Amino acid sequence: MTEVFKGSFTQQEPIPDEGIAAALEVMRHGRLHRYNLAPGEAGETALLEEEFAAAMEARYCLAVASGGYAMSTALRALGVRPGDKVLSNAFTLAPVPGAIVSVGAVPVFVEMTEALTIDLDDLQRKIATSGARVLLLSHMRGHICDMDRLMTICNLAGIRVVEDCAHTMGARWRGVASGRHGVFGCYSNQTYKHMNAGEGGFLVCDDDELMARAILLSGSYMHYDRHRAAPPAEAFERVKYDTPNISGRMDNLRAAILRPQLRKLQAQCDAWTERYRVIEGGLRETPGLTVIERPGAEEFVGSSIQFLLLDWAGQAVDEVVRRCSARGVDLKWFGAEAPAGFTSRYAHWRYAAPEPLPRTDRILDGLVDMRLPLTFSLEDCALIARIIRAEVSTVFQASGVKANA
Ligand SMILES: *Cc1c(COP(=O)(O)O)cnc(C)c1O
Repeated sequence: MTEVFKGSFTQQEPIPDEGIAAALEVMRHGRLHRYNLAPGEAGETALLEEEFAAAMEARYCLAVASGGYAMSTALRALGVRPGDKVLSNAFTLAPVPGAIVSVGAVPVFVEMTEALTIDLDDLQRKIATSGARVLLLSHMRGHICDMDRLMTICNLAGIRVVEDCAHTMGARWRGVASGRHGVFGCYSNQTYKHMNAGEGGFLVCDDDELMARAILLSGSYMHYDRHRAAPPAEAFERVKYDTPNISGRMDNLRAAILRPQLRKLQAQCDAWTERYRVIEGGLRETPGLTVIERPGAEEFVGSSIQFLLLDWAGQAVDEVVRRCSARGVDLKWFGAEAPAGFTSRYAHWRYAAPEPLPRTDRILDGLVDMRLPLTFSLEDCALIARIIRAEVSTVFQASGVKANA
């Protein structure tokens, strides 16, 4: 009998009851704008910022409208100007180059490794040749590169690092929270990320002047005194006449939904990684399939899983995706010709005039990706792994070993 999976890859968990109650409270009093406060009231957004800063062990936090907005605000606060080059991963999702282009800057894409992280040798080369002063580092799909080596390279070269932690909220490298190595950490609260407000984002930072700029940029008018996880007033005094208002605030309704989720974040991360390990175990030693080995220093969050069908013919990878789909398993392939759904590759971002990256192309051509919503049980994960394993094996045998090679 052929097993079929019946679950939905796009169904997230409901908002916790506590979040629903808090959201109703905000709607009842009607003060949704973050600066619309009753006497003595802190407001959900300011409290959320304070709590997120504490959770990330950051001095300051700013809640904003999206992860993409968090990244573009970080770049603006750092003084990235139109025409400047900004280094970034070739393997990432569209909001990352989009954030760079939104400030008029030019992305310089860096190759990826088989560990799905940024290629640090290529990064060194591109630091030397591009003239860029900023790296927008994307921890794409939760894979964290050797942050010790990366920070050494960037510190020596005077490169400021902004971290895109859309897939690493709650993850750590050698005990330090993801987002806390660079000068800014950026997070997303979009439905498919680790906390769900539909839309939303965070910036964390320890630097007084940079955070003052970010808060003013986000559209604080002159209400920066209503922020709690914020630098002292003097920091704002120094920059407030030179910083434009580019509104992208979070509102109290979203913040109310997020605060109870933050309290559950660690438990959620553990639940994701438990599911990830079941699938990883089920895929090991499948002929033709390469499991991505995770470094010991990385405490990752397994909210999605990737594997490589390295050097397979495109047709054969496509066949695996189709056969799994027929059995209810929704895989995404980064080697597809055209961008589809959330999945696109650097060559599709023509507005950024990307240069060809042969090592990245080879990996993307064999890279298969799958979301792991927490609505899946561990039994679901074991079943999904059995289906992938069976279909990869069938296609691998039929196509007679690495049809490309
Ligand atoms: C989702 C995501 C973001 C931020 O996205 P928003 O939709 O703007 O919140 C940034 N980087 C990556 C890799 C993402 O997947």
